Amino acid sequence: MHRNKREEVCRGIVVQSAGASYIVESSDASLSRCRTIPATRSDNEGATLVAVGDRVEFRPKPSETDMPEGVITRVFRRSSALLRKRDVRRNRSKERDQVIASNIDQLVVVSSADDPPLNRRLIDRYLAFAESEHLPVLVVINKMDLAEEDPVRELLLPYHRLGYRICYVSSFTDEGIEEFRTELKEKVSAFSGHSGVGKSTLINRLTGNGTLKTAETSTKTRKGVHTTSSAIMLSLPAGGYVIDTPGLREFNLSGITRENLRFYFREFLRIMPECNFSSCTHTVEPGCAVVRAAETGVIDYERYMSYLVLFGSLEPES
Ligand code: GDP
Ligand code: ZN
Repeated sequence: MHRNKREEVCRGIVVQSAGASYIVESSDASLSRCRTIPATRSDNEGATLVAVGDRVEFRPKPSETDMPEGVITRVFRRSSALLRKRDVRRNRSKERDQVIASNIDQLVVVSSADDPPLNRRLIDRYLAFAESEHLPVLVVINKMDLAEEDPVRELLLPYHRLGYRICYVSSFTDEGIEEFRTELKEKVSAFSGHSGVGKSTLINRLTGNGTLKTAETSTKTRKGVHTTSSAIMLSLPAGGYVIDTPGLREFNLSGITRENLRFYFREFLRIMPECNFSSCTHTVEPGCAVVRAAETGVIDYERYMSYLVLFGSLEPES
């Protein structure tokens, strides 16, 4: 049967946004540079038209470069989205939030055992964010070659007890990397974490360098991508993808308020009903069961301190 090539429709996943165009990976792993047109149809009304992680339908068109080109005809419904709040004053488009990455299966929170030192406040901030987004989370402690194993594991004990999955790794010695790979297999994992903890090194290690067959993956351009706060998606040899996102400060705690923060500390949930006031913020109220639990060691005191710090950093509701 004769098939008109121009009417052929392909499906793929957006792995990178590159200026006005997008790099789309098809199921056969080939990459196409695609643009949108006014008639591009989206299942995600009112949101960013195309984001890294989106499943799209595209029509190939003649290309004058090495890379095939195409036109995105449809963007499928997102199952999840990492948002960056737009500055209202500088925002001329109708969309309120910008989607940085979509269809994420889990958030990988990367910290380092040392250099920079393990920062529990930051881990708790990421965990609260993941809980607020209903995203499964994997905690990764990198640079285990720089620290004594036991004290690090002891520091993380409260998180094990809360049921968080934790991988202890070193991208230098390869310790724990296989177990880490297993946790990533067949999933779309968004990496987050403070700069310097080793995210890029880990991602290069996991993807085997240059999985994305474009010039844009050079270290230099990667940095460039970061400064514009967009995400990049790289495929894993065993299946699945990692998404390298800008720091959490960028994709902020948009959905979190002083009012709902308490629900994102899992250990509070069981205890909260025992507070004297049903609207207890677990800060200054008399008869607070959460404060009592923190003081008696029923819940981890440092976690409670993180709650207070986060609470203080959020705007009071007016
Ligand atoms: P990113 O900012 O999170 O992407 O961090 P980078 O990947 O740029 O790494 C920051 C620094 O930590 C670099 O100097 C890396 O060589 C180093 N580094 C990364 N992984 C490890 C590790 O497992 N052990 C040690 N000792 N250093 C590491
Ligand atoms: Zn309370």
